[in-house]
Amino acid sequence: MLNDPRSHGLWERTAPAAPATAPLSGSVQADVVIVGAGYTGLSAALHLAESGVSAVVVEAVEIGFGGAGRNVGLVNAGMWVMPDQLVSTLGPVYGERLIELLGNAPRAVFDLITKHGIACEDERAGTLHCGVGPAGLRELEQRAAIWQKRGAPVRLLDARETAEKVGTTAYTGSLLDLRAGTIQPLAYARGLATAAIAAGARIFTGSPVQAASRTGGKWQVKTPDGSVTADWVVVATDAYSIGPWVQLRTEQVHLPYFNLATEPLSDAMQRAILPERQGVWDTKSVLSSYRFDRLGRLVFGSVGALRGTGTAVHRAWAQRSLAALFPQLGPVRFESEWYGQIGMTKDNLPRFHRLDRNVIGFSGYNGRGIAPGTVLGRCLAEHITGKLPEAEMPLPSTTPEPVSGRAVQEAVYEYGAQATHLIGARLPGKI
Ligand SMILES: Cc1cc2nc3c(=O)[nH]c(=O)nc-3n(C[C@H](O)[C@H](O)[C@H](O)COP(=O)(O)OP(=O)(O)OC[C@H]3O[C@@H](n4cnc5c(N)ncnc54)[C@H](O)[C@@H]3O)c2cc1C
Repeated sequence: MLNDPRSHGLWERTAPAAPATAPLSGSVQADVVIVGAGYTGLSAALHLAESGVSAVVVEAVEIGFGGAGRNVGLVNAGMWVMPDQLVSTLGPVYGERLIELLGNAPRAVFDLITKHGIACEDERAGTLHCGVGPAGLRELEQRAAIWQKRGAPVRLLDARETAEKVGTTAYTGSLLDLRAGTIQPLAYARGLATAAIAAGARIFTGSPVQAASRTGGKWQVKTPDGSVTADWVVVATDAYSIGPWVQLRTEQVHLPYFNLATEPLSDAMQRAILPERQGVWDTKSVLSSYRFDRLGRLVFGSVGALRGTGTAVHRAWAQRSLAALFPQLGPVRFESEWYGQIGMTKDNLPRFHRLDRNVIGFSGYNGRGIAPGTVLGRCLAEHITGKLPEAEMPLPSTTPEPVSGRAVQEAVYEYGAQATHLIGARLPGKI
């Protein structure tokens, strides 16, 4: 997008076309204006339109321009912090409510995909969180115990079972989560947009919201060539927020994450590596992730930005790490490479903001936005239609709190990942 091959990479090359949309021009009226066409905004639009509410989405660039078109495509259950940490941070009422909602969130994604016939390469075989070293295995044992106590369908696999499922002996064990799976993330965003339009929503792209004001009990948001007047504003701009809601940006630390996609692997190689097509990530602090796309390209990623010296450092590390994980692969060529920014919050939990009267939004997904964005977008729609009162929302509403030392933390993420990858995977058996 924007002629940048490193923004959406493989996903832009292989997603079905987006529905036809145009920039906003002139004055438009609606019940709700939604700013941002990622999962949160599109799910809100779809659910509002299905309830008979007139919804208009205004997107600065294109459908899925933000995290929705750049991510790994792991449809995870829960946040990555331990479930018990949600309860200790949010208290029992909100903590338990959020765990319940997010634990079932992948099912909500897959149900929407089925209901609307969204072609997005969905694989529903679960995910494998893979343990590196004894400490990694201990972390997984703890996670397994916590989730199993809550009745979640997760299973701790030993090193042998893990090697059978993944095709490498690099791991000490893994946690198989059968609630989860993978999708082609941009295809899912475009499919949600198509479904929302079919239900009656209107979507305008190339239309950055530059100002918002309230007069006579109505909100008016302005783009370069038009405006939308509505009773409610949904702010669904998360880590790619520009324009009037910059405070969302200042409460997040951006963590860069890149992906490299190989050419389609041979059938034999696809049977040897992840034969059941789970999505994988590991327990390293500078973590790695991988999954297949539908044609058998291995999408391999980690923390880091593909710019400056980072591009060559991360690419060379990925070659070494893949060779250590899967020596049977031989040398690989990467067909596409891209990266994006993940919005991290102080406590690694998302936020529900009431930014003004009738201006609401969820953000801060900490790298877990596919399933959470989908169900929390639905919650915004239900709140607006009166089905979900504020007291029953999955999070309390908070005011954005700027993080101090943000620029330093972001530099540490970007250059720390480069330093780790510069020296990483150089010793035999190290990934
Ligand atoms: C590299 C990477 C890997 C990730 N991996 C995963 C993963 O495997 N699994 C997972 O669940 N999550 C993952 N995530 C996180 C996930 O992609 C995000 O949490 C998710 O996209 C958030 O959805 P959203 O709709 O809230 O925001 P976004 O998808 O970021 O959409 C926000 C949209 O708002 C638009 N916008 C901003 N300001 C304005 C304005 N003023 N006017 C109009 N439009 C505006 C932007 O252009 C953008 O399109 C990853 C993220 C990245 C970057």
